[in-house]
Amino acid sequence: MDLNALKELAYKAAEENIGLYNNVCNEIFTHPELGNREHYSSAFLTSEMEKLGFRVQYPYGGLETAFRCEIGSGSPKVAFLAEYDALPGYGPNNDQNGHACGHNWIAACTFGAADVLRRISEHFDGTVVFIGTPAEEGTGGKVDLVNAGCFDDIDAVFQAHLTGGKTQLNSRTLAIDSVEFTFEGVAAHAAGNPWKGVNALDASYLTFTGINALRQHMTPDARVHGIIEEGGVAPNIVPSHCVCKFFVRAADRDYLTELTRKVINCAKGAELMTGAKMSWRYFENSFDDLRCNPVLIDLMAKNLKDLGYDDFTTEEAVPSGSSDLGNVARVCPTCYLSLNAGNTDGTNCHEEAFLSHVNSETAYGRNLLAVKAMAATALDFLCDENVRKAIAK
Ligand SMILES: [Zn+2]
Ligand SMILES: [Zn+2]
Repeated sequence: MDLNALKELAYKAAEENIGLYNNVCNEIFTHPELGNREHYSSAFLTSEMEKLGFRVQYPYGGLETAFRCEIGSGSPKVAFLAEYDALPGYGPNNDQNGHACGHNWIAACTFGAADVLRRISEHFDGTVVFIGTPAEEGTGGKVDLVNAGCFDDIDAVFQAHLTGGKTQLNSRTLAIDSVEFTFEGVAAHAAGNPWKGVNALDASYLTFTGINALRQHMTPDARVHGIIEEGGVAPNIVPSHCVCKFFVRAADRDYLTELTRKVINCAKGAELMTGAKMSWRYFENSFDDLRCNPVLIDLMAKNLKDLGYDDFTTEEAVPSGSSDLGNVARVCPTCYLSLNAGNTDGTNCHEEAFLSHVNSETAYGRNLLAVKAMAATALDFLCDENVRKAIAK
């Protein structure tokens, strides 16, 4: 079948089944779970996929709430990446989980795009995969899945995210390292005989001071921000045990690796100055910077225009935030649609008010658009050998 006719079939399937995909959006929205604890959401998504005839692996890749559902056989293989972790701290008492980043919507549109392709799969060769990736907001489950080889057989990945900003087809994120320093000193009476003490808190703030001196010599994209998590127990005791944590970020992984080494050197200097013994570790997965595939960006742009939506940019975005999708994009050509949520109140992801934009009628409209655009772009990849050759190049 002609590719354009096939896309029309996909659009029709999306329209006929959008109720099912909006139900996914709502079901996950109303069961907000934190990262790595998304038991309800992952069980719900896999049971729905099973009903549709997908082969299900759950749990997957060594993560309890990760999964992989697939249909078809052989290559090429396209994968749609769901997220379904919520954020803490919403509601009147700031004690409720909420999908303020709209990961319920991500789950819905990636589910929908995978299902639409299933419904027309007799017309193309290859495999359609739906991968559940936990804890994007925290530990970054995609990093573990990449390290476990879960993307080794995937040829292209697709994901969409709602944003309060302009629609971007060429998003960039910052690579990030999470570094924790522990300083062990010696406690002593802070007024009686402070000369007997070794001050671990001094080592912590000298680390901050060293990093602040380093700032002048960092590239403008770099960000280093930290906290003192444990800073002593009482003012009259020389602090003997202190812990400080930093996020170190930059637009380029190679530069970030060099910068993180310099940050660690600041803590080594503080150890030498104070005598408080330093140890360090990465306390969360390190993320790479996100780079979207230019061939897939152009195809997505064309498909959105064909669908009557042209309020987007393909210019390379200024990098902001960090995402575990960066690690996937290192090993797989990646198409990432950051889609304006259609809200007019100026709110954006992670704000409480954004909760009202990720499961609304407008969000459902965006869901249909994302399902169609991702399915169409995946069809370009699956059905056009020249596209795959251009990407391989
Ligand atoms: Zn987020
Ligand atoms: Zn998010």
